[in-house]
Amino acid sequence: MLQLTVHSRQRVELINITLEVQALIDQHKISSGACLLFVPHTTAGIIINENADPDVVRDILTTLLRLVPQHGDYRHLEGNSDAHIKAVLTGSSVIVPISQGRLQLGTWQAIYFAEFDGPRRRQVLVSFLAPIS
Ligand code: ZN
Repeated sequence: MLQLTVHSRQRVELINITLEVQALIDQHKISSGACLLFVPHTTAGIIINENADPDVVRDILTTLLRLVPQHGDYRHLEGNSDAHIKAVLTGSSVIVPISQGRLQLGTWQAIYFAEFDGPRRRQVLVSFLAPIS
């Protein structure tokens, strides 16, 4: 099982991991198929979104924080229910097609690890899916 390690530095943060994923594809000489990225955590997620204007990342995070405030009518004793709920909203996996050795992301897309209860050391599990021949 391949994995990437992500070190988050803030409690809530989107971390662009596109280059690290592409580096794994290069390292393993994967030419086609797809890449499955899975986050094995309950207070973090993974998303694909805009890579050009950093205000989009800012707007995504401020909106998630507004929708799911850190403190509220939560019962979970660990005190991080907001992080669990934000992780539900973002999801735990993405699949990206690979062709000619490259992630087939759109021009404006990047893959972001979504931290909601950092800072922490996190993992992203990576599986390569073979193309149908
Ligand atoms: Zn918890």
